[in-house]
Amino acid sequence: MRILIIDDCSTDSLHIKGLLSQTGYTDTLAATSFKEALRILGDMDKAGLGVDLILMDVGLPDTDGIAGTLTIKAHNEFEDIPIIMITGRDDEETFDRAFAAGASDFIVKPVGKVELRARIRSALQLRRELLRGKERERELERLARKLERMSNQDGLTGIANRRCFDDTLVTEWVRNGREDNPIGLLMIDIDHFKHYNDALGHVDGDACLCAVADAIKAAVHRPGDMVARYGGEEFVVILPNTDYEGAKAVADNIHANIAETSIDHPNSSVSCSVTVSIGVTAGVPTCHNSPEHLVQSADRALYLAKQSGRNRTETIALPGPDEIRH
Ligand code: GH3
Ligand code: MG
Ligand code: MG
Repeated sequence: MRILIIDDCSTDSLHIKGLLSQTGYTDTLAATSFKEALRILGDMDKAGLGVDLILMDVGLPDTDGIAGTLTIKAHNEFEDIPIIMITGRDDEETFDRAFAAGASDFIVKPVGKVELRARIRSALQLRRELLRGKERERELERLARKLERMSNQDGLTGIANRRCFDDTLVTEWVRNGREDNPIGLLMIDIDHFKHYNDALGHVDGDACLCAVADAIKAAVHRPGDMVARYGGEEFVVILPNTDYEGAKAVADNIHANIAETSIDHPNSSVSCSVTVSIGVTAGVPTCHNSPEHLVQSADRALYLAKQSGRNRTETIALPGPDEIRH
């Protein structure tokens, strides 16, 4: 327990130090001016040695104790240190101002041992409760951040999950529509993944999903692009402000990355390593179509890619107003 006494009167300071020592508080520091007190607080903080309590005279040569309290409370690193004001004047106004400034308590000189001990105990108790409350608050904030992350993240691959994809797709749909920009969507499905799992087991299957997620991520470069796990062995990529050609180029990069990753597939009719099929679509959002149409088009393109032999990309344009009506 380290206590800093700030008092310009050395007799008073020594008296308080003596009382503290009799009460069992032997680790004390003394400053005769506010400037010196700030220096001591700074030095102790730098050395990683906190001050647990401040006893401050109201009338100091370089500031009054009330302005001093305000200054100390304005420093993040000192704001939790309780301050007990000590004054020769028993006037109500000083008392009110001291509390308003952030002082924890108030003692009128001459300081007596019993009173000093009682005030210190209650100030420290208050501080402990305050710190506990702050720690709980921080813990709750940490938990809230973790929950937020977890609710948007796929537990296996660490990329965005389906829920996050659904939310982002709507946001991007609206934003790109407002700016009259095309939006691209890729739907990616691992070829013969059931055979992969059957041959090597689910643990290797999971590792393969992570490697494919990494290969997809590595093919996507713009800050607004988003890779998500749509479900099972299907992934999606949202490409804001990207037309058909651009989306197709990203799909080519994904095929190239996955080929380069070269994960052995023991039982695929397409290749001896893992491959994917990709459905691509793109178009400008309007009031005649919706995010669901984008997903349906990419899904249909993916189906085509599977039908026409797998390990390839097929493209289908976002339907226009006429096609949607029929
Ligand atoms: P296709 O080329 O037509 O896509 O064939 P496929 O075998 O990949 O497709 P199918 O839909 O028949 O099987 C998907 C398989 O994906 C079934 C399941 O074993 C596997 N799978 C889905 N989710 C997971 C997962 O989280 N981990 C693992 N290891 N496997 C998964
Ligand atoms: Mg599938
Ligand atoms: Mg598949």
